[in-house]
Amino acid sequence: MYTDQNTNRKIIIAIDGFSSCGKSTFAKAIARRLGYIFIDTGAMYRAVTFYALEHGAIRSGMVDEDAVVRLLPEICIDFRFNPERGASDIYVNGDRVEGKIRTIEVSNCVSAVSSIGAVRSKLVAMQQEMGRKRGIVMDGRDIGTTVFPDAELKIFMTADPAVRAQRRYDELTAKGEQVSYDEILQNVLSRDKADMERAISPLRRADDAVVLDNSRMTVEEQLSWFDREFRRVTAR
Ligand code: C5P
Repeated sequence: MYTDQNTNRKIIIAIDGFSSCGKSTFAKAIARRLGYIFIDTGAMYRAVTFYALEHGAIRSGMVDEDAVVRLLPEICIDFRFNPERGASDIYVNGDRVEGKIRTIEVSNCVSAVSSIGAVRSKLVAMQQEMGRKRGIVMDGRDIGTTVFPDAELKIFMTADPAVRAQRRYDELTAKGEQVSYDEILQNVLSRDKADMERAISPLRRADDAVVLDNSRMTVEEQLSWFDREFRRVTAR
């Protein structure tokens, strides 16, 4: 079903969009079907934020940009496949931080950390290296615009903020985190605003991206939609 019509031609699939749109779930499913590598770049910004919180560069929610920049050379990020999850876990300096980066504390600081130029330069260079051989599905905010402006298929995902907040609320409460729906909704809205308004690589739809609004779509429906788009670009 998902075979490339130009045999052996591996492409880059760039997925950008708002917070909590289900980008990673969608991207992971596509990568599995295609046998491509999947990279969640949000996890990389979250990992830097988590490290900054642990090392005193963020105190009482205030991000000390100079302190974050000073920490950068000692931060080494990598992904390792976890057969139990059937997905890759993110590691910082050899420590698995996968379960620690999706807390509300990290979510509340990550947009400020990701607006720091030196943080973006370091992570974008790593992401470009990961996609050098193509055959990759990468999700984030600036993949189709900055990381891979030459990606063959660019998808811009969006969904109603209330639907997104409910999804994130269900995810966090299922993990036992004590959060309120209103707190999550505020976080989703403020991250959208910060991501769209930052000076470097703001979140925007690339001119050649196709829009996927999944407010009222199941994962299966999204995959059928993807199948059509994939055929369109690989049949060229
Ligand atoms: O995708 P996720 O919500 O986990 O991303 C966390 C945050 O990381 C985003 O709100 C955004 O501030 C930042 N980010 C970014 N560029 C990317 C991916 C994520 O600035 N490519």
